[in-house]
Amino acid sequence: MKTFKNFIAGQWVEPSTGEYFENRNPADTSDVIGQFPRSGREDVERAIASAKRGFELWRRTPAPQRGDVLRRAGDLLVARKEEIADLMTREMGKPLTETRGDVQEGIDTAYYAATEGRRLFGHTVPSELRAKWAMSYRRPIGVAGIITPFNFPLAIPTWKIFPALLCGNAVIFKPAEDVPHTGTVFVEILLEAGVPPEVVQLVHGFGETVGAAIVEHPEVPLISFTGSTATGSLVGETCGRMHKRLSLEMGGKNAQIVLDDADLELALEGVLWGAFGTTGQRCTATSRLILQTAVHDEFVRLLTDRVRALKLGDGRQAGTDVGPLINEAALEKVGCYMDIGRSEGADLVIGGQRARGGALDKGFFFDPTIFTGVAAGSRLEQEEIFGPVLSVIRVDTPDEAFRVNNDVKYGLSSSLYTRDVNLAFRALADLDTGITYINAPTIGAEAHLPFGGVKQTGNGHREGGWEVYDFYSETKVGYVDFSGTLQRAQIDTYLGTPD
Ligand code: NAD
Repeated sequence: MKTFKNFIAGQWVEPSTGEYFENRNPADTSDVIGQFPRSGREDVERAIASAKRGFELWRRTPAPQRGDVLRRAGDLLVARKEEIADLMTREMGKPLTETRGDVQEGIDTAYYAATEGRRLFGHTVPSELRAKWAMSYRRPIGVAGIITPFNFPLAIPTWKIFPALLCGNAVIFKPAEDVPHTGTVFVEILLEAGVPPEVVQLVHGFGETVGAAIVEHPEVPLISFTGSTATGSLVGETCGRMHKRLSLEMGGKNAQIVLDDADLELALEGVLWGAFGTTGQRCTATSRLILQTAVHDEFVRLLTDRVRALKLGDGRQAGTDVGPLINEAALEKVGCYMDIGRSEGADLVIGGQRARGGALDKGFFFDPTIFTGVAAGSRLEQEEIFGPVLSVIRVDTPDEAFRVNNDVKYGLSSSLYTRDVNLAFRALADLDTGITYINAPTIGAEAHLPFGGVKQTGNGHREGGWEVYDFYSETKVGYVDFSGTLQRAQIDTYLGTPD
């Protein structure tokens, strides 16, 4: 079995614990990818001490040069796109078309970051006093702790690490324990692109040890976390107590609304992709379908036929539509929601069980599932399931649809299918989510726009686009008084009495 290492203090090293965990292919659990370090606190300590040295070097490297390094990282991702897509599908299961998209998102993020190295704008502002300049500018912060989930093994780390590096920070990166291989290859690429060795540290291991050690470390002033709302709350408690800068991107319970006047064929394509792409394991996955009465029955019938035709299987095989769930625990969790749905009186239309037969027996496959008659406010309708499970809610009016959409604790993404331009713009104004799509599914964010959610999906920060650079840099203000005299702000005024 291949044994992988951490990257700490400029070297590929074994964990101080001497312990490892296995990484297996969720489509075929007999396929072992390798064993990865089950690191401990000592590894995190060493990595942070090194990252602090790396920071002192990197913060002084001009931002355009930092950008050039990231451009090379983008070029390397282009060159290795197919290989990375393949190893990503092998370790987490989504089909190759999707893992290629995951790599492409990393490429787009790299090229955006590269150009940002020549912007990183501050402001020059008129002073209220004569012979004085006032300006704001951006400074790096220090060692950034980066903790990521399994579902976008490359894209999400790039959303965080590229802007963190571009702004001049050093990075300690802990990938999710289900996707350590992609994380390792990403760090190899950063090093090959020219990121100085001590500027990036990779520490594999479990969240409750390695993740917690990073979050609790006093010399990591900023933390960027993407994962479940439950874990995010733990991270948030610690960061609040320690006054750390924290970006949280967490769970979702996203809805697609289809109104009576919608283009049904378009809406069908949208919900199939939104609900069952990535086996429903996207933070933006469509997990609720809100149907207006006149289209309800017809739409459910058409959708059920389309879902029946979806092909489950190994994402590396041509023709596969839906891959496996990530692990045994996910399979169990999704299974539990079948019982919850039935006990709440929802009607199971299709799916509802572990997928069996032939090669499917080797992996964590679950049949794409639809419940109808789901009551607004029920657990099935409110809780993030993170699997191929769609809950259908019937509504009478657009107002009711908007209310149902908003009445959950999450607020990441929403989607409305209608031909009514007024309703389309009302949705943009009134749906309580960080992103609203009109006539497009709940998934499909682009790398150069801010990404994130409201309510318990996030804590107000955004990834992607221009906003993320504010998170990874500190605003500082400089005043230069060249009058040669003491001028007192708010006290000395010159109205009507110039020299
Ligand atoms: P998770 O919360 O189980 O794990 C996320 C990361 O946190 C992993 O690296 C894990 O090891 C680490 N971790 C676990 N416990 C920790 C602790 N006590 N301290 C520090 N780190 C800890 O999430 P997951 O199952 O990998 O991912 C699925 C979740 O992520 C879903 O809820 C999904 O909605 C969310 N997600 C959100 C976004 C977004 O942008 N809003 C994007 C993708 C996924």
